Amino acid sequence: MDLRGRSFIGWASGADGGKTFTAINPATAQAITPNYYSALPDEVDRAAQLAAQAFIIYSRTSGKQKAVFLRDIAKRLEGITDALLVRTNQEAGLAEARIRSEAARTVFQMRLFADLVAEMSWVRARLDKPDAERKPAKPDLRSMWRPLGPVVVFGASNFPLAYSVAGGDTASAFAAGNPVIVKAHPAHPGTSELVGEVIVAAARACGMPEGIFSLLFDVGTEVGTALVKHPLVRAVGFTGSQRGGRALMNLAAARPVPIPVFAEMGSTNPVFVLPGALAARGEQIAEGLHGSVTLGAGQFCTKPGMVFLPVGKDAKSFSQNLSKRISESASQVMLTPQIQSAYSGLVGARAKQSGVALAAEGKSASGQAGVRGVPAMFAVEARDFLREPELGEEVFGPATLVVSYGSREEMFEIARGLRGHLTATVHGTDEDLREYRDLIEILEQKAGRLVFNGFPTGVEVGHAIIHGGPYPASSDGQSTSVGSQAIYRFARPVCFQNFPSAALPDELKDSNPLGIWRLKDGALAKD
Ligand code: NAP
Repeated sequence: MDLRGRSFIGWASGADGGKTFTAINPATAQAITPNYYSALPDEVDRAAQLAAQAFIIYSRTSGKQKAVFLRDIAKRLEGITDALLVRTNQEAGLAEARIRSEAARTVFQMRLFADLVAEMSWVRARLDKPDAERKPAKPDLRSMWRPLGPVVVFGASNFPLAYSVAGGDTASAFAAGNPVIVKAHPAHPGTSELVGEVIVAAARACGMPEGIFSLLFDVGTEVGTALVKHPLVRAVGFTGSQRGGRALMNLAAARPVPIPVFAEMGSTNPVFVLPGALAARGEQIAEGLHGSVTLGAGQFCTKPGMVFLPVGKDAKSFSQNLSKRISESASQVMLTPQIQSAYSGLVGARAKQSGVALAAEGKSASGQAGVRGVPAMFAVEARDFLREPELGEEVFGPATLVVSYGSREEMFEIARGLRGHLTATVHGTDEDLREYRDLIEILEQKAGRLVFNGFPTGVEVGHAIIHGGPYPASSDGQSTSVGSQAIYRFARPVCFQNFPSAALPDELKDSNPLGIWRLKDGALAKD
């Protein structure tokens, strides 16, 4: 029997009794076979029950064994590149080079977490020596980070690989020692299925417990809602819109036992071009900005959606340069009909807002196949921008807003009024930096990553990266969803007081049998 299109509940295939849906090829606007079946309520429950059972075993699995599992997923992912090139292209309209680079990033990410957990110091072991002579006696205290339990991951629409079934949320949740239940994004079920098969095969080959991974399909919000409400689920990782992220945060907070939701949501990513940089490199900055705004049809959560310039002749030539580039830009295939229609709606509404001018529009999409977005540039003066908070909201697609301010004070007022963003960018000279030092301090309060003389698109995966930011960029401004520090979202610190060494986890034993870095009485040590 052909089991395509069914959810994966542990090792078993799901039923074909739920609602059906198909992916849409955005390049042709046509449906793609096969049908996918939404998971049924008892399948959601079964996935959660299996995950809770798997947690008992997997949470005690050594870092070395977890690393073997993650590396096996990485290797198997490399083996399905050709299949991904076909299916991901059909489902997301992405070109071969982009799919290859996203697949490589996904594999790299998996190996990064494998290295992290194989080395094991990530658990942040801390040991405070007891002192029986002290009055009152000081206890023996040891702490380390432990996994949370079953994690639900919502895949993103715009990264069908790197922020999806085997993306950063799944890799970091597995690395910390948690089973994962993925709710696949309905825009790319075939890609999700291919990657899901890889994870199941790796889990079986590595002797992992059934239930360490399930993949549930759905179109609509029923399965996602049931998962977030399920009492055995312990945390949620989400990448998507502010509306979706906020809905899940509210659901999680309303549970009898609330759970954390790590939602990476939309962001407008302000760019400040300071006077010295504008005079010295205006043309070059306009060129880079145009590339960043239109990259991937502007469908990146780090797309620079607003640019702030001091009024004057340099700003005028910058705007002319940018508007020329935008008006010469072709329309681009977008990810889904829903995203395209939301984009056109927002562009149309913005053009009608008081004080806002549609400064440039790209080449029309009429007569071209597929769901396409036309690049757009808007312009507004600072006083109108300050009056209308909606202008600071994300337009997901290839559009940006140029805001001109008349005074330094006006620029600082704008900066202080910003909401939370994933990134904030400053273009400046050394003198600009001296002159506008306060701006950097303000922006540090507003964004997770500050970019200097560059552009925010392109999120490097590594140890120092932060992809997060104050609300509403993310639900939890203290964490990152990209890079090795993402592991701490799905773990929590536990302290052991006065336990005999033999009863402690290896990471905390006197002899340090794993040879990891530990904070012993306040000093880092490996002995
Ligand atoms: P979305 O509409 O929020 O959907 C994301 C996922 O969440 C889908 O699986 C969706 O299921 C589910 N979902 C949404 N609302 C839900 C609810 N109320 N209850 C249960 N499940 C719910 O986002 P999208 O349209 O896929 O992506 C576009 C947006 O994502 C943009 O605003 C963009 O900025 C943001 N984004 C952010 C990042 C980042 O790293 N911060 C990355 C990529 C995209 P259904 O589709 O079946 O409803």
